[in-house]
Amino acid sequence: MTAVPIDGKTLALRVREEISEDVAAYGDPVCLATILVGDDPASHVYVGSKHKASHEAGIDSRDHRLPADAPQSEVLDLIAALNADDGVDGILVQLPLPGHMDEPTVLRAVDPAKDVDGFHPLNAGLLYLDQPALTPATPSGVMVMLDEYGVELHGKEAVVIGRSEIVGKPMAMMLLARHATVTICHSRTQDLAQHTRRADVLVAAVGRRALVTPDMVKPGATVIDVAMVRTDEGLFGDVDPGVWEVAGLMTPVPGGVGPMTIAMLLRNTLTAAQRRRTAVATSGS
Ligand code: NAP
Repeated sequence: MTAVPIDGKTLALRVREEISEDVAAYGDPVCLATILVGDDPASHVYVGSKHKASHEAGIDSRDHRLPADAPQSEVLDLIAALNADDGVDGILVQLPLPGHMDEPTVLRAVDPAKDVDGFHPLNAGLLYLDQPALTPATPSGVMVMLDEYGVELHGKEAVVIGRSEIVGKPMAMMLLARHATVTICHSRTQDLAQHTRRADVLVAAVGRRALVTPDMVKPGATVIDVAMVRTDEGLFGDVDPGVWEVAGLMTPVPGGVGPMTIAMLLRNTLTAAQRRRTAVATSGS
């Protein structure tokens, strides 16, 4: 058996076309502001792709860049100015921040209504309460992929490897909200394979090449590989290529989860604009 690939690239293009149509139908300008501190090359690539994708969807963008030694107060001042700016709908702080900054403090400074990454505690709390507002883009993209490929979640065993605030925890919450029985594994999990072998849906979000081997996967399972491990030989995920022979559906790396993440960021930016303007209109009436 060879797993059917989940084509995130094609799906993301379609989602992005839908967003462009929705932005055009919305009529008012929509604007995403990004903040990049320092000169991490990967972060520069990510921010560049986010601006390109925004423009292609008809979303305006503002690109704020600060030197690696900028004081945290400068970032907080910039966030405060963007929070107050009615022309800005979404604010994205590119991670990681330099070591002298406290990421939670910076992320908490973003107005939750403009928090298109969904990292603010208010948005994380709403997801926990099953009242999602703005949710993290990567797990949101995974949910769209699962739905697109008709993957049953109700009552199924879902195992998430990784418990970060960006991927693992929100992923687990989203699967739980869809009535999967969810297990979260992490670096202290004993006998990882014993958990993963039960999974009807297995999401790997660790960042360790070939962590998930064929013997760890239930035949026919849906395997979502979130990881991006950059090496001199190219980009790899957490899942060993041998798993293609065991799984039923599987995301490739590259071309799986990655493209969907940007698409969902654009969706969040439009959602933030729509919700904020509705709220302003309601409070003004
Ligand atoms: P992270 O913050 O480093 O979290 C990694 C998680 O993996 C942690 O919870 C860690 O456990 C767990 N872990 C580490 N070693 C393990 C092991 N041997 N067995 C089981 N669990 C283990 O990373 P992240 O930000 O969630 O990202 C995870 C991966 O996804 C990375 O490769 C990242 O590049 C990729 N990513 C991709 C996208 C995309 O768009 N495709 C977006 C975001 C992230 P502890 O909590 O115990 O330390």
